Amino acid sequence: MSASVIDFVATEARFGAHNYEPIGVVLSRGEGVWVWDTDGNRYLDCLSAYSAVSQGHCHPKILAAMVKQAHRLTLTSRAFHNDQLALFYEEIAALTGSHKVLPMNSGAEAVESAIKSVRKWGYEVKGVPDGQAEIIVCANNFHGRTLGIVGFSTDPETRAHFGPFAPGFKLIPFGDAAAIKAAITPNTVAFLVEPIQGEAGVVIPPAGYFTEVRQLCTANNVMLVLDEIQTGLGRTGKLLAEQHEGIEADVTLLGKALSGGFYPVSAVLSNNEVLGTLRPGQHGSTFGGNPLACAVARAAMRVLVEEGMIENAATQGARFLEGLKDIRANTIREVRGRGLMLAVELHPEAGRARRYCEALQGKGILAKDTHEHTIRIAPPLVITSDQVDWALERFAAILTQDFS
Ligand SMILES: *Cc1c(COP(=O)(O)O)cnc(C)c1O
Repeated sequence: MSASVIDFVATEARFGAHNYEPIGVVLSRGEGVWVWDTDGNRYLDCLSAYSAVSQGHCHPKILAAMVKQAHRLTLTSRAFHNDQLALFYEEIAALTGSHKVLPMNSGAEAVESAIKSVRKWGYEVKGVPDGQAEIIVCANNFHGRTLGIVGFSTDPETRAHFGPFAPGFKLIPFGDAAAIKAAITPNTVAFLVEPIQGEAGVVIPPAGYFTEVRQLCTANNVMLVLDEIQTGLGRTGKLLAEQHEGIEADVTLLGKALSGGFYPVSAVLSNNEVLGTLRPGQHGSTFGGNPLACAVARAAMRVLVEEGMIENAATQGARFLEGLKDIRANTIREVRGRGLMLAVELHPEAGRARRYCEALQGKGILAKDTHEHTIRIAPPLVITSDQVDWALERFAAILTQDFS
């Protein structure tokens, strides 16, 4: 490590809250699937900022849109109209087939906004007695870090010593349709769920699960809220992960790649009256729907479609998954994925996934462990076949070693 690297890391540790444990690399530049550290070493980014940089680092068209808009107008607040918001609404509605849009900033804010909206819908449209609304959520969920959200997490680290928490959430196992059937009551307003549980280690539910979930929600007048903040916008090889299941959510949450990593932009999308219950003064955000965010998001959505990134995610994801499955190594317990949302789960005896990620860094690949034994792999959707093959060689070299 050079002196400069030690300095950045030590300074962060000295002044910053220690709420992260980063891999020991200091990045200073990115382009497409590649990032460079302060010593000029190049790495293939297999995390994409948890899928926020799906369009590739510093995509030139998103960059141009951002710079152009930054010269014109950045923030008006929603006290006034701006000339980007309507265009953003029109384009995101056309892309996703949604009828109503609520623009926010972070993913967690989109989740919070959806919770508020479905509760309000429950009281004002469904007729649930005031204060009694229930929302069903799944074990091992990840929906963000606000107080409201961590209150219904099942991860002890996420929750410990942050309470007291808000009531009104009911936990059921993920991928179990019978459990949701049993959990629904007349006061249930929504089922909030990830199509694939990302932070839990890329957990894909059994085939047919979401068809049943959709039927149960419709039959009981329960809003199906899909958190597609990580799975959406092409990550799984389709625009929305719900398309793999042939269903439509009532409320869809997008974030992360909605800005291609340039800016925090998230959105609540709904097909029905849920967002219609919000009246002036009842919800908002100073930065939500600002012209800079809208211009960036418009460009991020445009390049995703125009440059065939969604199809590429399907093609390269299949190639990556095949290649990982072909690696013969005693360390591997399971390989799974959909599109470019992939994971290698190691045998517990193989040692911590973190060690493998550190070894991968030495080979020019940045990946991130999750939950001790899983390496998640999510490169930008612009990755080529040659780059997938290049990565696979390195994964094979590391996974056949033993770091226990
Ligand atoms: C990242 C993520 C969030 C939270 O997004 P932030 O922008 O970090 O607040 C919510 N849900 C899912 C599924 C995510 O992956």
